[in-house]
Amino acid sequence: MKDHIYLVSPQFIEEKVRKIFEMPGEIGFIARLGLLSGLREQELIYIKEKAVCSDGYGCDCEKLHVVDCKNGMTIVAIGWTRANKKALATILPSNEYLSRRGPKTL
Ligand SMILES: [Zn+2]
Repeated sequence: MKDHIYLVSPQFIEEKVRKIFEMPGEIGFIARLGLLSGLREQELIYIKEKAVCSDGYGCDCEKLHVVDCKNGMTIVAIGWTRANKKALATILPSNEYLSRRGPKTL
């Protein structure tokens, strides 16, 4: 059957998610963020590498605008556009995003 997903065992999704969370290194980081955020690979690389604005709210500069919600989640205003694809914002677990960013962290 085309364009359909069907489960082959009750543990199928649980096993695949566990394998993604167990992946080490940079590829594991990108795979986990993709699963949690719904962002595409290039968008994930962008939010990992792009500088974060320190001006806070109401700013329209080219940098990322990040809000640590203090409840374990972080909102990232992205503003990424390529052709007809856009990534405006995402919400991620803070420990996955804030602790694993590159040298341009907050
Ligand atoms: Zn800004």
